[in-house]
Amino acid sequence: MGVCPSARMALLRDNFTGLLHPWARPEVLTCTSWGAPIIWDGTFDPAVAQREALQQNLTIGLTVFAVGRYLEKYLARFLETAEQHFMVGQRVVYYVFTERPDAVPRVALAPGRLLRVERVARERRWQDVSMQRMHTLHEALGGRLGREARFVFCMDVDQYFHGAFGPEALAESVAQLHSWHYRWPRWLLPYERDARSAAALAPGEGDFYYHAAVFGGSVAALRGLTAHCARGQRRDRELGLEARWHDESHLNKFFWLHKPAKVLSPEFCWSPDIGSRAEIRRPRLLWAPKEYALLRD
Ligand code: UDP
Ligand code: MN
Repeated sequence: MGVCPSARMALLRDNFTGLLHPWARPEVLTCTSWGAPIIWDGTFDPAVAQREALQQNLTIGLTVFAVGRYLEKYLARFLETAEQHFMVGQRVVYYVFTERPDAVPRVALAPGRLLRVERVARERRWQDVSMQRMHTLHEALGGRLGREARFVFCMDVDQYFHGAFGPEALAESVAQLHSWHYRWPRWLLPYERDARSAAALAPGEGDFYYHAAVFGGSVAALRGLTAHCARGQRRDRELGLEARWHDESHLNKFFWLHKPAKVLSPEFCWSPDIGSRAEIRRPRLLWAPKEYALLRD
């Protein structure tokens, strides 16, 4: 797999790449069929991306939900490591959504960074907590978050930063390759296949399998994404359906219909259980260990 010819066009179109060397990683795909960069370690210059972002005087949002036991188990480490690695040197506003604002850990924040806590209701089923995020994010993006931030990343809390996650990841819309599935043939990918579901993809459809633990983009793009996913989930519920991987199934449908402007390689959100792989040079987020019995009863 090499660099497709349209890679250079994608570089020119994109503002925050620092993407200078797509050819530096000849062993992996660094460009999608529609010309969006797939960023791997070594294909971008973080210093250039940093400079481009600073010139634009950006505020970057990072949203995370911590409901029920996820708060004690994951939130402190997520935020502490974000302070070390997420958009360091940029203006950042964290949005933590929880049903227990008082329990949010006090993490020391660097200058120019602030944390806002938003109260949400606690859904009974973990699937509903996960899915309700799309609706809640949609409303937040239409409110203060949308006014404060220029770009926003939306992340799961059950992970922690391990390497620099900087402005090279910014674009109008950003999708994350799922670390367990990026090498799988398309027909095996776990898309929703029930044609009655709003999330359904037919055989032959789908570009990649994206991970809902990380997605991002401009406020306007994310308003569209969250509206699409929340609407699809509502329609499914009215039919008594629930997509196979919940919000992730709807996200995959959205990105099939509306191609992301940038794709993050699995280095940006890696599962250590997979073990080491030659192409995974520098993981930026790592999945935290999951104790389902503790979290989901
Ligand atoms: N979540 C939460 N409390 C819950 C269930 C989910 O806070 O009871 C949030 C949390 O941010 C979590 C995300 O929703 O990371 C997605 O759920 P989960 O990580 O369990 O899904 P998975 O990654 O296993 O598909
Ligand atoms: Mn998760």
